[in-house]
Amino acid sequence: MTRPRWRLQATFFAAIALMLAIVVLVMVLLWNRQQAARIEVSEATRGAMHALLSEQVRTDGEAEVRQLADSLANPLYYFDLEAIGALARAALRESDVDYVLVYDPQGRILHDGSGDIAAYGQPMADPLARDVVAATGPHTRLAGQVLDVSSPVMIGDQRLGGVRIGYSLAGMTRAEADAMAGLRTRFEEVGRRNLAWLLLLCAALSVIALASVALVQRLLVRPIRLLGDAARAIEAGDFATPPLDSRRTDELGDLVRTFARMRDSVAKHDRDIRRVAYSDALTGLSNRLAFRELLDTRLRELQGAGRQLALLFADLDDFKRINDTLGHEAGDDVLLQVAGRIDRALRSLTAAHGTVARFGGDEFVVLLEAADAEPDTDVRALAARLAEAMMAELGEPLLLRGRQVFLGASIGVALFPDDAGDASMLMKNGDIAMYQAKVAGKNCHRFYSRTMDLAVERRMRMEHDLRGAWERGELSLAYQPIYRTRDRVLVGAEALLRWQHPEDGPVAPSVFIEVAEQSGLIEAIGPEVLRAACREAAQWPTPDGAGEPPFIAVNVSPRQLRSADLVHQIQSALVDSGLSPVRLHLELTETAVISDEMHATALLARLREAGVRVWLDDFGTGYSSLSHLRRVQVDGLKIDRSFITDLLRDPDDLALTSAIVAMAHSMGITVVAEGVEKQGQFELLRERDCDLVQGYWLGHPVPAEDFARLLG
Ligand code: C2E
Ligand code: MG
Ligand code: MG
Repeated sequence: MTRPRWRLQATFFAAIALMLAIVVLVMVLLWNRQQAARIEVSEATRGAMHALLSEQVRTDGEAEVRQLADSLANPLYYFDLEAIGALARAALRESDVDYVLVYDPQGRILHDGSGDIAAYGQPMADPLARDVVAATGPHTRLAGQVLDVSSPVMIGDQRLGGVRIGYSLAGMTRAEADAMAGLRTRFEEVGRRNLAWLLLLCAALSVIALASVALVQRLLVRPIRLLGDAARAIEAGDFATPPLDSRRTDELGDLVRTFARMRDSVAKHDRDIRRVAYSDALTGLSNRLAFRELLDTRLRELQGAGRQLALLFADLDDFKRINDTLGHEAGDDVLLQVAGRIDRALRSLTAAHGTVARFGGDEFVVLLEAADAEPDTDVRALAARLAEAMMAELGEPLLLRGRQVFLGASIGVALFPDDAGDASMLMKNGDIAMYQAKVAGKNCHRFYSRTMDLAVERRMRMEHDLRGAWERGELSLAYQPIYRTRDRVLVGAEALLRWQHPEDGPVAPSVFIEVAEQSGLIEAIGPEVLRAACREAAQWPTPDGAGEPPFIAVNVSPRQLRSADLVHQIQSALVDSGLSPVRLHLELTETAVISDEMHATALLARLREAGVRVWLDDFGTGYSSLSHLRRVQVDGLKIDRSFITDLLRDPDDLALTSAIVAMAHSMGITVVAEGVEKQGQFELLRERDCDLVQGYWLGHPVPAEDFARLLG
């Protein structure tokens, strides 16, 4: 949409122009009216003047003719042609007299003022003559440009004849024309003066119009436009420009001041919101958003400057355990202490400066640069030093409610510009390096390298694909039969998870279980496995007679074991399926149990109280300290496949297996051998009194319905 920059002004202009146009139109009409009036007045004046002059000529003429008639009475009576001629000539000499005719009572010309009187005795032949002769008194007629005035000449009642004078009107017409010309000149002069006034008025009005447009522009349009500009700037998040102030005391000044106050309050709100949006509420450190902006800005500034920076991604190892076991308040306390320690580690570094941010959860990120004073310091070395310092700081025990807690951190480092040229890639690579540090055994740091990419990417893709795999039905359970060694009776099964990847086909559990464990996805999948296995086992037919119903062994991962929810999950799986607790065996790995013995001991006791059996899986691969078995109460142990594989060749393995069996039996613990692939192995195990066996020689993991068929 185009901005309405000129609309207000244009409207004012248009209104003023319209007003001016109307005024000019009115003036033109007035002018026209005046011209028409002038013509009318001229015509009327001309008529009046004509009438007046005509009347004048007539009365003057009539008086003169009457006088001449009186003067002619005697000469006519005596027929004194001399005297008649003198009078006629005198009359003819008058300036505007055209002709003088003295005639007898029959209308015959007696004298015409000329010397020889050529027309003497001739009757008057003009069209008026008859009327003139017939008239008994003065007679006046107009004939063309001549006023014909006649009068009979009488003595007493006797008519002696008459006299006729033709007055030329040309003089009068000239006088009239002169008067009219004078009048017109006057009119034109007045008209010019009027026109000048009108034009002056128009000019004055135009000036007034322009002045009012300028005034409107100054008083209204400009401030409104400034307000508009400011509003747009605010809309774009710019609260600094342009400055808004007005000393005006009118409504607009008030509006500008109110607007300025509103802008200040919006700016303050914006700052507050930014503060909340850009910092981590718990630690007060920058959050992901703020860090990302800072990183973008720094990278822009450093681009092409030949300077390096490093990102250190630190993730606390086993932080979730603290949250789960000691509660979220303790977790928050840990995060605060960790933030303080990272800051300390950063400050302990000379020739460097950096910013610490928390990306949520237990992930901290440091942006590290060489100090401005020493720009040539090797940032890679600096990052290594910081990582060491951080690990040393975090390696110190944390004090939590009087208890000492040990925490490690895995740190990944990515360098600019070596590892990536933009913020997104740099952060991704830092994350990959951190992931790699975790995979490498945690509590260490790793620099990003391109070879990491592939492995980590595959792993990350797997993690991504594994999310929701259960809900999509890609995960299922296979059941591997477990037999009693003594009589090879089928006594139970181990539930083993299978993943059918939609593109890659079946994925080995040893691969994806670890990914699920690392990523925490196992916490969602584990309970589903538990529920499904219990539901399945509850359907299995119970053998006739005195035989015990078959058990189901479910693997429980270390992470599940640490979850505070495990007991509840197990109980609800049992209740929902209706499976008797004694039929559920939980396989825990030896290392998981031993790594947190105190927690495990308490948990196992609770599980066993609930009635379920607890087995140690992969026995012999971890610490294998039999003394643990005394403290950690379990119902059974599964000798790891690696021992069974070499049973026939390696006498040491055979001896160890025999010792384990004897020792376990002495403590009332059941022994299972897994990975039995040969008859020989089976025979040996039976000989050494191993209680239960499991392996390909006896049966592969099979789908649920196949296993149910095995049970018959
Ligand atoms: P595990 O608990 O020790 O399970 C036994 C593994 O040995 C299974 O491998 C089984 O297929 C394999 N096996 C059985 N008999 C033989 C044999 O005669 N020869 C050989 N070479 N192997 C045999 P699988 O199914 O690949 O599982 C690998 C591991 O994955 C399991 O080891 C277990 O630790 C884990 N796992 C499997 N399912 C689950 C589960 O639902 N939850 C958890 N947390 N872990 C699981
Ligand atoms: Mg197992
Ligand atoms: Mg095992």
